[in-house]
Amino acid sequence: MSETIPHNASCKDDYDPNSISPEQALENIFQTITPVKTTKSVPIREALGKILATDIISQINVPTERNSAMDGYAIKGRDIPDEGIHNLTLIGCCLAGTPFNEHVKSGECVRIMTGAVMPDGTDTVIMQEHVISAASTISINNDTKPGENVREAGEDISVGDLVLSKGMKLTPADIGLLASLGFSEVTIYRNIKVAFFSTGDELRSVGEELDNGAIYDSNRYTLFGMLSRLGVEFIDMGVVKDDKELLDRAFIEASLKADVLVTSGGVSVGDADYIKDILEQQGEVNFWKVAMKPGRPLTFGKLDKTYFFGLPGNPVSVMVTFYQFVQPALKKLMGETYCSPILMKVPCTSNLRKRPGRVEYQRGVLEQDEEGHMVVRKTGMQGSGILRSMADANCFIILPLESEGVKSGAMVDVQLFHGIV
Ligand code: AMP
Ligand code: MG
Repeated sequence: MSETIPHNASCKDDYDPNSISPEQALENIFQTITPVKTTKSVPIREALGKILATDIISQINVPTERNSAMDGYAIKGRDIPDEGIHNLTLIGCCLAGTPFNEHVKSGECVRIMTGAVMPDGTDTVIMQEHVISAASTISINNDTKPGENVREAGEDISVGDLVLSKGMKLTPADIGLLASLGFSEVTIYRNIKVAFFSTGDELRSVGEELDNGAIYDSNRYTLFGMLSRLGVEFIDMGVVKDDKELLDRAFIEASLKADVLVTSGGVSVGDADYIKDILEQQGEVNFWKVAMKPGRPLTFGKLDKTYFFGLPGNPVSVMVTFYQFVQPALKKLMGETYCSPILMKVPCTSNLRKRPGRVEYQRGVLEQDEEGHMVVRKTGMQGSGILRSMADANCFIILPLESEGVKSGAMVDVQLFHGIV
């Protein structure tokens, strides 16, 4: 990509002429990714959390028949007196699942329970609290209007209605709705396969000794968590050393097995940072720097048919770039219809330091103040290596490219983890 953001570089700002904006990065990702086409039919319980591959059109009315919304008495509306009391003869009873099959004439009534089909000849239900009942008669007044307390056939959903749209991620309510319409199976898109590995000579896995200068690899665990939540199939390829040959081989292996490869580390301009060079040699680089913090050295491209995300090494950068770019990309690839994230505007109770030139994703806690108003504060230190800033947070505070920081009390944009995570 040749597009860059305009800049008036100075030593006091974070402008980088090689960076593209987060919006441009997302647009580039969406233009590049083609959703999967393969579909399969599965029992509705297996479809929970999967992406619907066809529109769902109702074949039946819900409710299927006119039925009672109350426990009471089914009558003809025209038997309701204009004033005073009117007596009706009780001729039977119907329950949900046990209909009353005779015709009801004027002057008659039938005891009816919620959900029971309205007997032929009736159009109104008088709540049992509104009648005086004797053994074989009831007395009614004019509190109830004709047609009340009845659910019409097809009132909720009618034959031919579009109930669920292709591209939706199926929720528990959707699965219930499918069942209520009699669908035992539904067509979903095939699952996608995501391979991931960490890079770095300094990385040790949990259970290993921490020798001189070594650190534990946390990125494979956050990636595991984020990919699991998305419901994709994944291949954990472990840690790959900062060795060009080993990395070359890992790239080839992933491109043969996975729809997407996500790596962390090795994308800066240090001596042991090979990722971008390998992508350039084996595939195509779409972009490699985004004007954001944390996460500037984010690489995106393609290895033959496999999409590639080279995330930075710092643990917070991994999570921020995943949620802002990899997650929307995977959703598009899975066939899910894109919904841009919901941002809330709330007052910030912390001072936030920032230099212009990059969009910042600071980690915050959205909470209620003493008067019950929503406010946000930052979680402690905001370094890109401080994973606690993510663990303590429930939202991102998003500060625009040009922002020069925030004074306590100013309004900020907040993106809740609930909903994106
Ligand atoms: P890099 O992008 O490889 O230069 O890494 C940037 C920083 O992130 C370095 O301090 C690395 O030690 C650290 N880092 C890289 N990968 C991981 C990982 N998988 N887990 C924890 N820290 C990491
Ligand atoms: Mg490294």
